[in-house]
Amino acid sequence: MPEVRKDPITGGWVIISTDRSRRPTDFYRGSTTKTGGYCPFCNGNEDKTPHEILAYRENGSQTPDSEGWLLRVVPNKFPALQIEGEMGRVGEGLYDKMNGIGAHEIIIETPHHDRTIPTMTDTEVESMFWAYRDRLIDLKRDKRFRYILIFKNHGEAAGASVEHSHSQLIALPIVPSKVREEVEGAKRYYGLKERCIYCDIIRQELDDNVRVITENPDFVAVAPYAPRFPFETWILPKHHESSYEESLRLEYKNLARITKDILSRLDKALENPPYNMIVHTSPIAEVHNDYYHWHIEIMPTLTKVAGFEWGTGFYINPTPPEEAAKFLREIVE
Ligand SMILES: [Zn+2]
Ligand SMILES: [Zn+2]
Ligand SMILES: [Zn+2]
Repeated sequence: MPEVRKDPITGGWVIISTDRSRRPTDFYRGSTTKTGGYCPFCNGNEDKTPHEILAYRENGSQTPDSEGWLLRVVPNKFPALQIEGEMGRVGEGLYDKMNGIGAHEIIIETPHHDRTIPTMTDTEVESMFWAYRDRLIDLKRDKRFRYILIFKNHGEAAGASVEHSHSQLIALPIVPSKVREEVEGAKRYYGLKERCIYCDIIRQELDDNVRVITENPDFVAVAPYAPRFPFETWILPKHHESSYEESLRLEYKNLARITKDILSRLDKALENPPYNMIVHTSPIAEVHNDYYHWHIEIMPTLTKVAGFEWGTGFYINPTPPEEAAKFLREIVE
C-alpha cells in the first residue's frame, strides 16, 4: 500500500510508493558527461562574460577580468531580472505587478572545464561556499531586495545551459512563495512548541538513524521524511543557524566536505545524474531568528513533474527515503 506522508514543515503531501519501489538502476539516466568545446566560462575567455563582480585569485594577477583566477562571479549575460532601476509596484486593482528589479549572477566555481563538485578539490568547493557568503553579505545591503536565492543546475536535464560547473544567484524584490511556505510553517511550529522544527527534525533523525546518510561535526545529510523526489537529500547545520552567511569560518570547510561526499554518492548510485541544488536561508528582513534554520536541498532530476503534481501540489515519489538513505549510506569511496 502506498503511503501518503505529510511534510511537517510546509504541510505538503507526497505519495511514497512502498510496493514497487524503484532502485537506483531503474531510473533513466541523462548523461551529464562533459563534452568540452568552446566555453565562455573557461580560463582565458574572460572577455566573453560581463565584467566580474568578484574573483578569487592566487597571489599572481590581480587585474580584473584577466586569466589566472580560481573562482569568478559575473552578472548573467541574459538576466531574469535587471539590476538597474527603481523599485515600484505599478499594479492597479486586481492585477498586481512590479518592476523587474533584481540581481542575477553566475558563480563560476572553477577554471577547469571538466571538473564537477565531486572531482573538484576540497578547497575549490569551500571557495564556492565562501563566494555564496560574500555575495549574500554584499547584496543584502541593497534595500530593494527581500530575498536572495542561490542555486545550482547540473546537467542539461536539470536546466544547465552551460556545462562548465557554475552556480547562480538571484536577488529578488519579494520573498518567493516556496520560502514563505517553509518560513511560515517553521513559525507556526515555533509558536506551538517554542523550538525550531529543523532542530527537532535533526534530533529525531539522528536518534532514529534510518534516514541519515552521513554526518560530520557541523552538518548532517538526511533523506527527508516526505521527499518530493527520489533521492532528495537535505544538508542541515547541526547547530541552529537562521542564515547561511552567519555560519562560522570552520563550518564552510565541513559544508564543502559533506556536499562533495553526498554528490559523489549520488554520482555513484545514479551514474552522474543531473540535479538541482538550492540554498534556503532566512529572508533578509528576518536574518536572525529562532524559528527558521538554513539548509541545502539536493534534488536529482530522475522523474518528471506532470499533470497530477501540477494539479494537486502532491508529489509522487517511487523511492522511499529510508531506502534511498540506505543505498547512499552503503556506498563506499
Ligand atoms: Zn569551460
Ligand atoms: Zn534550528
Ligand atoms: Zn527548504
